[in-house]
Amino acid sequence: MALNIQHLENEIIDQYLYDENPTRPWIIGFSGGKDSTMLLQLVWNALNKIDPILQTRKIYIVCNDTLVENPRIVKFISKTLIKIQKAAVDYNFPIIVEQTAPKLEDSFWVRLIGLGYPAPNKFYRWCTERLKINPTTRLITEKISENGEAIILLGTRSDESANRAASIKRHEVKGQRLRKHPLPNAYVYTPIKDVTTNELWQYLNQVPPPWGGTHKELVTLYRNANSGDCPLVIDDTTPSCGNSRFGCWVCTVVNKDKSMEGLIDNGEEWMQPLADIRNFLIETRDNPEIYREQRRRNGEIKEGTWGPYKFETRVEILKRILKAQKIIQETEGIELITHQEMVLIQYHWFRDCFFKIKVSDIYNSIFKTQIDMSKQEEKFKQESELLKESCKQEPKDVELIQDLLALQKTKTLMIRKRGLQSDIDNRLNQFIEELKNPVYMN
Ligand code: SF4
Repeated sequence: MALNIQHLENEIIDQYLYDENPTRPWIIGFSGGKDSTMLLQLVWNALNKIDPILQTRKIYIVCNDTLVENPRIVKFISKTLIKIQKAAVDYNFPIIVEQTAPKLEDSFWVRLIGLGYPAPNKFYRWCTERLKINPTTRLITEKISENGEAIILLGTRSDESANRAASIKRHEVKGQRLRKHPLPNAYVYTPIKDVTTNELWQYLNQVPPPWGGTHKELVTLYRNANSGDCPLVIDDTTPSCGNSRFGCWVCTVVNKDKSMEGLIDNGEEWMQPLADIRNFLIETRDNPEIYREQRRRNGEIKEGTWGPYKFETRVEILKRILKAQKIIQETEGIELITHQEMVLIQYHWFRDCFFKIKVSDIYNSIFKTQIDMSKQEEKFKQESELLKESCKQEPKDVELIQDLLALQKTKTLMIRKRGLQSDIDNRLNQFIEELKNPVYMN
């Protein structure tokens, strides 16, 4: 193999042992794709060559689930993460697997169906920050506050694309392995930046994963999906998602989801209902005159711009998701939308004065069940009406108070209060900012 694996492992050993700060942890962004798999495998094998007494630096393996990931890939990654954590214990390695996810109020469906955010496009890509950047940033910030500093290891490679090569070049500091990350006290280390795609596949084909098993499933997934992986997006300098990679199955930033099409063509026909939903999302996005309000949330009507999805559109999307869920839950055991998301969607519908049809009615008509959300529904409805009545003079305050109540409800639904204070502070700051500079949907 032309690639000098020994050299790469020695570099990693050197960085692990002789770093100026002996305690700052490593955080490995792991997407389950080929790049982060090779990165983790190299780190693992390098660590195995270090005397156990010197294996004191903690290594966190961070995997983010947007909650709308391609379900086929989710299954594969979950199995891999279990193997990794188990093997780390067997090897007695200081490796800890951490999974991150968006906050309930930021979930794709709560924003899209609850608040009427339009399916994203490359100009209005509201999802990357909420689904990907924020959850991992929270974890990195937490590790930095525990340890003072952290080093983030990424599987970024110049050979991936000309853009990526340019981005690596722009950020690299000559003669230094680490570069500064936009987050304070965080650094980035990209050990495989010079590895070519051919070398990477050669390596994965020849060297089995040290946590057990083979790379056969990974190779097959790539072959069937005919696609690249969706890297962990750590900040907006990371080459982005939404490029027909193993990413969110709902992604409308690209016009064709080649990876999902590839999987369907190669025998995963059960994913067809998901592809149909995604196509419908594209239709809603491209035809705002049919599917969106003319009035924006701030009450303005302006030529060429559009407000949130109409209520009928939100209902239609929810129906389609639940119908698909009914089919694939039975065959694949996959849930596309959670109960907690549906409760929060209902809350937002009431706050937007949508009383005609309820989430529970839609659910019950599709699943032929009787889920009872009546207590929550009645409470949300009364609250919404009372609030509107008491803030008649200041309608903008209604929006703010409803947002604060939604945050509190989210925490109650998730049965945790942690982070509520900072979420409230953030929303109040955003309110002040919006008063100064109003923001619009496109
Ligand atoms: S993959 Fe697409 S839907 Fe998912 S966060 Fe990225 S741009 Fe948004």
